[in-house]
Amino acid sequence: MKNRVDSDLTAGGKGKVQIPSNLLFKCPRCGNVMLMEDFEGLLKVCSECSYHSRLTARERIEMTVDADSFKELDAAIRTANPIDFPGYDKKLAGAKQTTGMNEAVLTGTCTIRRRKCVLAVMDSHFMMASMGSAVGEKITRAFEYATEQRLPVVLFAASGGARMQEGMLSLAQMAKTSGAVGRHSDAGLLYITVLTDPTTGGVTASFASLGDIIIAEPKVLIGFAGRRVIEGTIRQRLPDDFQSAEFLLEHGFVDMIVPRNIMRRTISKLLKMHQKEADGSWVK
Ligand SMILES: [Zn+2]
Repeated sequence: MKNRVDSDLTAGGKGKVQIPSNLLFKCPRCGNVMLMEDFEGLLKVCSECSYHSRLTARERIEMTVDADSFKELDAAIRTANPIDFPGYDKKLAGAKQTTGMNEAVLTGTCTIRRRKCVLAVMDSHFMMASMGSAVGEKITRAFEYATEQRLPVVLFAASGGARMQEGMLSLAQMAKTSGAVGRHSDAGLLYITVLTDPTTGGVTASFASLGDIIIAEPKVLIGFAGRRVIEGTIRQRLPDDFQSAEFLLEHGFVDMIVPRNIMRRTISKLLKMHQKEADGSWVK
C-alpha cells in the first residue's frame, strides 16, 4: 500500500510515540487510522467508512479461493513492444519489478468452497491494469480453456482501459476477448464478473460488462470515458455519484453490490446455483 500516515501519534498528551508508518493504515476517504494488522484482518476494508482498498491479484486470489487450489494458466505469456512505442519497454520492466507479475492479469483454475472454476484477476498496480495484447490473449485463452473444460469463469476486473502503448492492437483485444466470452456463453456456461476499483475504458466496454451476473464492490468507480471528457462533450454537469457502483446498480448495469467479507461466499453460492451434475440435473 502506498498510503503513508504521519508516524507521530500523541500518547496521553505527553510526548510522542513513534509508530512506523507501515504498521498503520490511513483511509484515503475518511482519514480513519487503523493498525495495519486490523486493516488486513478486515480484508483491507476501512472499519469506519467501509472503503474497499485496491488489492493485488495475489491478495485477491488468497481471499477468494480454497487454500493452494489456484493453478496458473499461461504464466509464460510475455508482452512485446509491437509498435516500438518509446519508453514502453522500460515502463514494463518497472511494472514487472514492482508487482512481481509478467502482466496485469493472472489466470488459472481454482476451487471456491470446493466448486471448480476458471479464475482471472486483474491487478491495477501493473500499469493500471491497462489491456494490451498479452492481457487480451490471457483472458481469451482462459475463456477458451473454460469452454473446452465446461467450467464457469469468475473474473475480477480492474482497469484504466486500453493500453495506449500498443495502439490499435490494444483496441483489437476488445473484440477478441468478447468473441471468446460469446463462445463460452453459447456453450451454456456461466460467467460472473466482479467489478473492482477502478474498472474503466475498453475493459468495461468489452469482457467486464459481459458477465451473466455482474457484481461490484461497494462504491467503486466503474465507467467508460472519464467524467471531465463527458462533461466537456455534453456540456452538462454530471451527478456526483455518476460512475459509482451504486448509481449503476440503480440503473440496471450492475446486478448486485457485494462487500468483500461475503464475496467468496456469494460467488460460491452463485456457482452452486448454476452447477449441473454429470447427468445434466441441477446440483442440490
Ligand atoms: Zn474510511
